[in-house]
Amino acid sequence: MARKGHESEVAFGSRTDIGCVRDHNEDSLCVAPPLFVVADGMGGHAAGEVASEIAVETISELAPPTLDADALCAAVEQANLAIIQAARQGRGRKGMGTTCTAAMVEGQRLIIAQVGDSRAYLLHEGKLSQLTRDHSYVAELIEAGEITREEARTHPRRSAITRALGSDPRTQPDLYDFSVSAGDRLLICSDGLTSMLRDDEISDIMNKADDPQRCASRLVSAAIAAGGLDNVTVIVVNITGNAPTERRRLARKSKITAAIVICALIAIIACASAAFATWTKQSAFLIAQDGKVALYRGVPGEFLGMQFSELDHVTDIEVDNLQPGLANRLKTEGVTTTWEDAEKLLADYEEQANEGQAKSEEDGQ
Ligand code: MN
Repeated sequence: MARKGHESEVAFGSRTDIGCVRDHNEDSLCVAPPLFVVADGMGGHAAGEVASEIAVETISELAPPTLDADALCAAVEQANLAIIQAARQGRGRKGMGTTCTAAMVEGQRLIIAQVGDSRAYLLHEGKLSQLTRDHSYVAELIEAGEITREEARTHPRRSAITRALGSDPRTQPDLYDFSVSAGDRLLICSDGLTSMLRDDEISDIMNKADDPQRCASRLVSAAIAAGGLDNVTVIVVNITGNAPTERRRLARKSKITAAIVICALIAIIACASAAFATWTKQSAFLIAQDGKVALYRGVPGEFLGMQFSELDHVTDIEVDNLQPGLANRLKTEGVTTTWEDAEKLLADYEEQANEGQAKSEEDGQ
C-alpha cells in the first residue's frame, strides 16, 4: 500500500511491504498530517499485525489536532493499554506487542513519541541524523562500546527490543521536541529498512529522490533488493516550515448544486485516468518466466479484463540462482518497482545470480 498526499502545508509519501522472507506484514502506518505513525508488531500470525493496528488506530483517534507533546504521549499510553486489553479479550494473542514511533510536524516544530526500534531520522542540509534512540538490546551494546553500529545491523539479536507497547501497563514513550527548517525531510521507518541499509545508503537515496512518494518507494525497493529479510515500512515528509492555515469549515452546502458535483466528478475521473496512465508507464515489475527473470513495463494484475503491463524483455538471469526469499517472491507475486530503478535491480540480481551459480558449482564439485 502506498499513499501520497499534498496538503498545502506538508508533502509526504509512504510505502509498506511484506519483504521477501516473511509470510505476512506485521507493520502498520498512519499518514494523517500533522500526525505520522509507524508501528512494527510482533507476536506471530494474527497477533503482531493486530497489535500494530491497534496502536495506529488508537493514536490516530486520540492524537491532538495540533502539536501537544503531553497529549501525544497520553495517546501512546492509551494505545499500550488498548493492546493489553485486546489480548485479554482474545483479540490477537497474549504476548503480542508493537513498536511505535509517532511524530507530529507543524511549521518549524517536530515532536516525536517513541517506543521500540522504529526510527525517526532528519535530513538537514543533505546530512542524515538519527533523531530517536532505539530501545533494543543491540543499542545497549553499542552504547556500552561493545559493538559498532555496522555490527549491530547483522547481529543475531538485532530485533530484540527492550521496550514495546502491549506488555507493561506502565510503559511510557520517550518524548522528543525538535525545531526543524524548511527543506528538511523527516523519515520514519521500521527496522526492516535500517537492518537492510546503512545510514549512508539511506542518506544517498533521500538526497536523490525529491518527491516524497518516490523517495519512500525507492527506500523500500532498496531494502528489498538488499534481501528484504523483514517487513519494511517508510514514511517520508518534506518539511516546508510554513505554519498550517486554519482549515476552513465545511459550510454553505446548499450552494453546491448537482451540476457542480457532476462536473467535479468528471474532472476527477479524467485526472485519475491520466494519472493512472502516467503511473503505469513509470512502473515496472520483475517476475519469473520459464525460470528466468522477466521485466515488464506497467503494473501486474488486471482489472475488468484489461491488463496494464507489457513485456519488455526476458533476461538470462536464472531465478533459482537468486537468494531463496527473492526467488520465491519472483515466482509468486513478483517485485514491483519504478521503471527508473528496474535496471539497477536487474544489475543487483545478475550479480547475485552469478554468486549463486558460482556457489552451486562449488557445492557440486
Ligand atoms: Mn521489523
